[in-house]
Amino acid sequence: MRRAIFPGSFDPLTNGHLDIIKRSLPLFDEIIIAVLNNPEKKPLFSVEERCVMIREILPEIENDKCRLTVDSFEGLTADFAKRSGANAIVRGIRAISDYEYELRMALMNRRLEPTIETVFLMAAEEYSYVSSNLMKQVFMLGGRVEGLVPELVEAKMREKLQ
Ligand code: ADP
Repeated sequence: MRRAIFPGSFDPLTNGHLDIIKRSLPLFDEIIIAVLNNPEKKPLFSVEERCVMIREILPEIENDKCRLTVDSFEGLTADFAKRSGANAIVRGIRAISDYEYELRMALMNRRLEPTIETVFLMAAEEYSYVSSNLMKQVFMLGGRVEGLVPELVEAKMREKLQ
């Protein structure tokens, strides 16, 4: 059983995240989208709202070979991965700027849980500049994010704005 977690803030989920999930589907039997509850950050969407949204969107990309589930966690990613019985942590790399941070995290996680491997997948070119923060900034200033986030996410962002 090859089980992975894909941890992140997902505030909100973007098409870049979805692309990484799609690329992970053939590699694992189960992927847990793990929404981090970080009490230090002030998110746009609550953890619960993010989980509900992701659960609604996942059926669009699901196949019968890989199970996709959504969970939330607090604290160390390595602990959550261990608790979940995962043997891999999936992360996306968009540019060199992601690499340094991701390298540090991967090495630390390996030290904490030597049996869990971090698997990096390269972002699709068309989403390589997409981040949740940029999507929020642009949307809140009246810009269009169509095609960069799922339609449901765009609708929920519009609700937040009103
Ligand atoms: P975090 O706060 O942990 O970075 P994010 O929700 O921003 O959480 O990102 C979760 C993961 O998804 C990270 O590995 C990040 O590099 C990756 N990611 C984010 N946006 C994209 C994108 N547009 N393309 C590919 N990977 C992405």
